[in-house]
Formats: sequence, C-alpha cells, structure tokens
Amino acid sequence: MARPLIADIDLDALRHNYRLARDQAPHSRAVAVIKADAYGHGAVACAQALEALAPAFAVACLEEAQALREASITTPIVLLEGIFATAELEHVETLDLWLVIHSDWQLEALLAYCPAHPIPVWLKVDSGMHRLGFPPAQVEAMWARLAAAPERACDLHLMSHFASADALQSADFRRQLELLDDLAIRLAAPTCFANSPATLAWPEAHGAWNRPGVMLYGSDPLEASNEASRRLTPVMTLRSAIIAVRELAAGEAVGYGGRWRAPRPSRIGVVACGYGDGYDRHAVDGTPVLVDGQRTAIAGKVSMDMLTVDLTDLPEADIGSEVVLWGRATNGQILSVDEVAHHCDTLSYTLLSGVLPRVPRRYH
Ligand code: PLP
Repeated sequence: MARPLIADIDLDALRHNYRLARDQAPHSRAVAVIKADAYGHGAVACAQALEALAPAFAVACLEEAQALREASITTPIVLLEGIFATAELEHVETLDLWLVIHSDWQLEALLAYCPAHPIPVWLKVDSGMHRLGFPPAQVEAMWARLAAAPERACDLHLMSHFASADALQSADFRRQLELLDDLAIRLAAPTCFANSPATLAWPEAHGAWNRPGVMLYGSDPLEASNEASRRLTPVMTLRSAIIAVRELAAGEAVGYGGRWRAPRPSRIGVVACGYGDGYDRHAVDGTPVLVDGQRTAIAGKVSMDMLTVDLTDLPEADIGSEVVLWGRATNGQILSVDEVAHHCDTLSYTLLSGVLPRVPRRYH
C-alpha cells in the first residue's frame, strides 16, 4: 500500500484563477508565472493546462524554459532573470525565448551577439526593490542602445518588480509606480510591472502585460483581501491520512521535546506528512488541519515523516481518516495555504514551492 500522501492539483482551479487574473486587467495580457516548477505544482502540467489561455509564460532560467520546450510547449516564454553567462544567448535563440535584461554585461553580451532573428527584450528597471534592474537614471540610455540595434533586440518592453504591492496603502509602492509611469511615458514604452497583488488591487499598475504568479495557484497575496482575491480557489490540496492513534493521559507530552502536553485526556492522530515532504517544521501548536473535513490542529513538533494532530474533539476520526494540510477536503471544506503559512510565520510561496519531489502530484 502506498504512503497516503499526495499533492492533488486541480487544473480547472488553475484555469479559473488565470481567468480571474486576466479579467481583472481587461486591457493587459497576463504572463503566467510558472517558475520554480509552477510554485511546486509542476510546470509542464500547468503550462499544458494554461496553453490555450495564456499568451506567454515566465520562468526564472534557461533550464526551466528548456523543460517546457522539451514538453512541446510552443507558447512564448520570458526568462525573468535573463542569462547567467554569455553562452546562454545561443540557447535563448534556439529555444525562441524572450529575454529580460537587467545588467550592463547582459546588454553588452546581447549587443555583441549576432542572432539570426532579433530577440524580444524586456529591459528591467530597479524602481525600488534594489534587487535586479538598471538604475532609473540609466534606463533611457540603455533603451536607446537597444532600440538602435533592431537586428539584435526587438519588441522592447519596460519591466520592473514591486516590493510592496501587497500592502494596499504603501507609500513605497506609490513611489515605484510614479517613477515607472514617468519612465514609460518618456520612452513611450509598453510595460510589464504588475505581479499578483498589483494585478488584483492596483489597476494603475496594469501595463501591456501583467505577471501574476502566486494568485494563479489560489493564494491570496493581499494583506487585506478584496472582492476579486476572495474568488481565488486553491489549486493544490496536500492530502494525507491518519496512520496511528494514541490515547494520552492529561499531562503526557507528544513528539520531539514534548512541546505539546495534553491539557486533558486526549486522542492524538499521527499523520503521514512531515518536513521531509516539505511541510514547514516551524508550524506551531494550533496550526489548522482538516480531518475528515473538520478543523482541528497540530499538537507537537513536526517531524521528518510525520506530524501529530489533536483528535480529542473528533471521536469519529480514526486510522485512515483523510487529513488535508491545505486545500480542499473531500467534503468541500477549504483550508487556505495562506492561513497555514501564517501559523508557520512564512508565506504561501514557500509552502507551495517547498513541497518536495517525494510527494507524488496527481492532476485532475
Ligand atoms: N515577476 C517576477 C520578476 C517575480 O520574481 C515574481 C515572483 O517572485 C513574479 C513576477 C510573480 O509574483 P507573484 O507570485 O507575487 O505574483
């Protein structure tokens, strides 16, 4: 019998969320961000599911793009981090990719390269994230150099990334947007700025393209949900089962370090899922789970292959009962990955992309 742990991936939910991203920005096209193996959901399966809807995909690096091309995905693919070495340009060309250029050496490498066909280029501005991109003062000069080399670079776009679009009233976000608007107007450039929170909550940031990522997988990226973000639906359900039950007397402890101590006579369920599967080891006592579609909570530290939950108030629960760590239970109840992330002092991004390969993915 197989270990009862699976990541169920609902591809209809993925398409629903993609449509929602698209409908939020009717004058933009939405690049589906499927880097990091589609945030843990499986990039090839997600690309195949979105192929008929999405006019472009975005990945971090060449290897991720190559895997999609090998799976016969012909949709345009943007390389978000561009190239890491000059030699990669040849592959950018043969794989027919769109290239983000964020630094001097990348620009020089492209201008020194002679592609058979010009490569679509998104020039990245550092508008305040201070991670990748050209300082705003250099952008006009870089843009002009690219525009003067139409045999090498074509379809120029201005691109940038927001540091705090999730905080709805953020002054930092406003500053980034003002700077970008100003540049885009001066260059008459088509733009791609908006990530998921900006797609959902900042129409002013929508450009020729938007780049929604985490919202496609059903996670709400906003600090305070809005009408649209509440319509997102989970794509991944991390599903396991109770594999053993323990009866504890009041005062007895559970798991490593005895972190959880029974405040009353208690029933503890042992679940086949641990940090060796990607479940966050920092989950505190009280982190919610669904057992047979009913809410209960983690009791005791997460171990490598197992975690323990309090079944005291769920007398029907027993060995074989369904446990949903996040996602949608068989009875339709939903436990959002955002809520679990909150209890782990982390983000949905890390939980979803952290589900390890030993957890089989099952697609519907
Ligand atoms: N664009 C870039 C450059 C990114 O790094 C990311 C995600 O990290 C995204 C878009 C998508 O962001 P989100 O998942 O918040 O929508």
